[in-house]
Amino acid sequence: MDIGIERGWLPDFLLTNGEIKSGTAFFVDESGIITRFSQAPADLAGAQRLKGRAVLPGLVNVHSHTFQRVIRGRTEWRNHGQRDTFWTWREKMYDAATRLTPEQIYQTAKAAFLEMLLSGITTVGEFHYLHNQADGKRYSDPNLIGKLVVQAAREIGLRIVLLRTAYLRAGYEKPPNPGQTRFITHDAGTFISDTEELSSWVKKFRFSGEAEVGVAPHSVRAVNREYLLEIADYARQQELCLHMHVSEQPGENEACVQEFGVSPVTWLEGMGLLGPRFTAVHAIHITETEAGFLADSGSSICACPTSERNLADGAVRADWLLARGANICLGSDSQIQIDLLEDARLLEYHLRMQQLERVVLDPAAPGRERLSHALYETASKSGAKSLRQNVGELAVGKPADFVGIDLDDLSVAGASPETSLANVVFSLERTAIKEVYVAGRCVVADGRHALQGNITVEFKGVQKELWGE
Ligand SMILES: [Zn+2]
Repeated sequence: MDIGIERGWLPDFLLTNGEIKSGTAFFVDESGIITRFSQAPADLAGAQRLKGRAVLPGLVNVHSHTFQRVIRGRTEWRNHGQRDTFWTWREKMYDAATRLTPEQIYQTAKAAFLEMLLSGITTVGEFHYLHNQADGKRYSDPNLIGKLVVQAAREIGLRIVLLRTAYLRAGYEKPPNPGQTRFITHDAGTFISDTEELSSWVKKFRFSGEAEVGVAPHSVRAVNREYLLEIADYARQQELCLHMHVSEQPGENEACVQEFGVSPVTWLEGMGLLGPRFTAVHAIHITETEAGFLADSGSSICACPTSERNLADGAVRADWLLARGANICLGSDSQIQIDLLEDARLLEYHLRMQQLERVVLDPAAPGRERLSHALYETASKSGAKSLRQNVGELAVGKPADFVGIDLDDLSVAGASPETSLANVVFSLERTAIKEVYVAGRCVVADGRHALQGNITVEFKGVQKELWGE
């Protein structure tokens, strides 16, 4: 290759191929794809020195609803002293969902996406269900809002898979809920043609391969069998990933048993819908047998522990799932906190609290840092698998999506190469994240993004308009 267009970096430590390496530089071609690693003195001298930095793969946030950022901190009290649950929280979320304008949704998406980038996330799966106007009518462009959300991600430099959500009904034998009018697409044919339109729009602009479309039947309660099967069939033909909220709350399981006689994962398994393109978001209230169905089928499970603890959902049985070789990935979901490494450590911590035992998820593999490696992978490589993107690790042929960690930040200072990943996974603060690169392009430098000031001001404006305070 022409050495003139090659660029490279030499950090103190580098995580590649499951190992922390020092004295190793990595190089990319002009499109930001990693071409080689080298320890040759001439290469080390030619690479840009990232002194005092550990370089780690960019994180993959598999499950996000950006608009929910507007209710952060606005649901943390009881209404009239009544018991607060996921379902009462949902009413507050619907209130915001029905009032936001497309422009406000766009500005909120930019703020949430920017917060993701600043926390080391380089790819997001946006589970997008605000399709209609507030009264349920379609916009003249039915993908108006979806396109704005994709644009928001691309403007700040984040990779995005827009998971277009299919939503039919409030639930089994439930009357329509006015809070859901913006989500509903009445028939699967219309959902598919709308999705096709968005896919061709994304392909037309392409955004250098940094935006794609997937499909997401919202949940077992929000679809019926025929509607779900038609969309799943379309996803199979188009080889799109298919994401679905599954067993987040016991109430969802109870309704599924009432309608179909079995719980959600068993029902999906029976229809042949599990498989490598399928991601079950949450999958908290499952049986050990169902953990086996998810693992054996090659499905992914997207846990969202910071959101799940906030919404009182429960804790995912990561021990059952990982013991069976399942692919667990992570999402920020309701955006109560955007910190995928916190999600990673909570996978383990929730089980420690329940089982009164430490290092519960330690895999049977050599090396002291195997738990930290496994948890870091849930936040990176496993997410890439769920979203079917060629990212999540630093390897030849993958784009250089990476994070530069300041090894002098007090949250990780003093870590040796051998303990650096455990320091990062269990203790890293966002103050340590100094650089973020997507496809070899620097989007965060010295902990800041070029558009940060404007986006923050705009988002504060949205909050003022929405809440009047
Ligand atoms: Zn969700």
